[in-house]
This record gives sequence, C-alpha cells and structure tokens, in this order.
Amino acid sequence: MNLFGFPRILLAHLPTPLERLDRLSKELGGPEIWIKRDDCTGLSTGGNKTRKLEFLMAEAQALQADTVVTYGATQSNHARQTAAFASKLGMDCHILVQNRIGSTDSNYTSNGNVLLNHLHGATILRCAASADIQVEVAALSEELREQGRKVFVIPAGGSNPVGALGYVDCALEFVSQIRNRGLAIDHLVTATGSCGTQAGLIVGLRVANAGIGLTGISVKQPRAVQEENVFNLALETADLIGRPDVLTRRDVVADSSYVGPGYGVPGEDTLEAIRMFAQLEGILLDPVYSGKAAAGLIDYCRKGRFKRANKVGFLHTGGSTSLFAFDAFFADCHETRTSSP
Ligand SMILES: *Cc1c(COP(=O)(O)O)cnc(C)c1O
Repeated sequence: MNLFGFPRILLAHLPTPLERLDRLSKELGGPEIWIKRDDCTGLSTGGNKTRKLEFLMAEAQALQADTVVTYGATQSNHARQTAAFASKLGMDCHILVQNRIGSTDSNYTSNGNVLLNHLHGATILRCAASADIQVEVAALSEELREQGRKVFVIPAGGSNPVGALGYVDCALEFVSQIRNRGLAIDHLVTATGSCGTQAGLIVGLRVANAGIGLTGISVKQPRAVQEENVFNLALETADLIGRPDVLTRRDVVADSSYVGPGYGVPGEDTLEAIRMFAQLEGILLDPVYSGKAAAGLIDYCRKGRFKRANKVGFLHTGGSTSLFAFDAFFADCHETRTSSP
C-alpha cells in the first residue's frame, strides 16, 4: 500500500525479516516466538526510528529545511538515526542530550550512540538533566535561525503523528508477511517509550483488521500515563490518515512492570533477557528498550500468559549500539583466559 500518499524518503531496508526463535521458544516451553527484525532497518546499525524518519525527514525536505534539531537521552538511538539520515540528505544535525541517569562512566558519555553521532558529523550539545528540554530546543533553534538556517525540529523519539506513520506501515508489512506465510500469530509484544511505535502499530493493526493483540512494555512511565499518551497519539495518527474511528481505548495496553530501577537502567531481568537472546538466538538486544520488552515477554511465557500452542510476535526495535555504553553491567564479559601452551 502506498501509505496514504504522505511524502516519504525510502531509505530503510524493508521489509525487515520475520524469523522463528526455535531455541528461545524451546527453553521457555512455548509458545512459538517469532521476531520481527526492526533492528535490521539498515541505517547506521538500524532500529525503529528509521521508519519514522522516512516520513519526518520527507516533511523536513518539503519545507526546504537545511538543518534538523532533535533531542533525547545521552544514549538516544533516535538521535543516532537522525544524525545518519541527515548525513544522507546533506543536512546539518544538532542534537541536545541530557544525561538522564547521571552516569559518569566514560563509555556511557562518549561511546555507543554518542560516538556514532560524532562520526555522522552531528553537533552535540549537552544540557543539564534538570533543564526544561523544550526551552533549550527553542533557544537553540532560534539561534540557528538567526544564523540563517532553515530549521526543522524533530520531537523526542520522532513520535508525532507523521512519525507514527512509519509504524502504521510496519503493522501493514507485518500483517502481509504473516498472511503470505499462513502464520497465525495472534499477539505482538514491543517496547514503548515515546509512544510512536505502539501508536502507529495499533492504528495499522486496526486498519488491516488483523485481530492481533498488542502489548507495549513501558520503559519509563507508569501504566496509566503511558496508555494515555499512546492512546492520544494513536487518535491523532488515525485522524491524520482519515480513519478517526478505527481504534478504541481498549486497544491500548502498556505494562509498566518491567521498568526495573528506572528509565535507562537495566534490572536483573533485563540483563537475563539480553543474555538469553544473545546465547540462544545470536541476537543482540539493548539495556534500555528491547531488553526490557524481552524481559516482559519472557516473564509472560513463564507465567503461562500465552497458550503453549500459540504463536507470539516480538518486535525488535533495535538499540544494541548502546551495549558499548553499558558494558559496566556485563562485568563478567571482560574475562578472557590466557592460553597456556
Ligand atoms: C526509541 C526506542 C524504542 C521506543 O519506541 P517509541 O516509539 O519511542 O515508543 C524502543 N526501542 C528502541 C531501541 C528505541 O530506540
């Protein structure tokens, strides 16, 4: 489907693969788990922001912007994909970052996504974790405009109705993949943060009349707040594509039981999920988003929340680049034996 004629710059590697996780499914004793590999969208190590940016950057281009400004946590995957996309289009990229976990680990402050942002030629501006980011963004944008730049501001995580179109499209892609293969996947699990991914998926699954349940695993906000935010964005997104009545409040489920110590800090269950995917399936998750979503998925399986005979989907949203920033959480991974001939 041409997604309702919205301007779009095709850059992601699509469709992303849909693969069965045999060893993980067996380890958990069922259900059959399938993974949708949006960590493989192709742009600068991939991830879910690339689909959103196909629409957002097309909007920026249509407005003849030459500079994009965005913001996030120090290890924002969204910032990295925005910086890479801007490079591809020959635009300048300015990123405001906040060290939201207060880490002084130099790998956290300089490696992982931060290293790649610099490699892509982005300008990074640190601001205090306590600062009002909207005020900072407005001030930076104004300064750049005074220098004669045409500035386009991309919201946190690329999550507005235009960005969410990327995940309306992902839902349609997923539904067509499972229908073509005759796969009866009846539930999908994904991480949910700035809401664009879940909001877009809800709308897309509804538009496709898929009959697939969706659970977002919150990485930060308590359930009520997250569900309200997702619902509002889903309503705006449905409006944008001319299908205002396509969803109801009951379509929105965000479980906040797996946030752990807080946003951007992995708990034991998240670290276990990262190891399980790495060692059973050769797949890298991340400590901030996909690892928490996987911790939720694993716990649901262990608690028998899905029927054993069922098939469940897991949307991998990417983020493994930040493993290099969080290596302190994997202290035992530093041990290497010396050979003794
Ligand atoms: C941003 C991000 C998410 C969350 O997606 P939202 O659309 O912000 O809810 C999940 N996983 C990864 C790896 C991300 O970078």
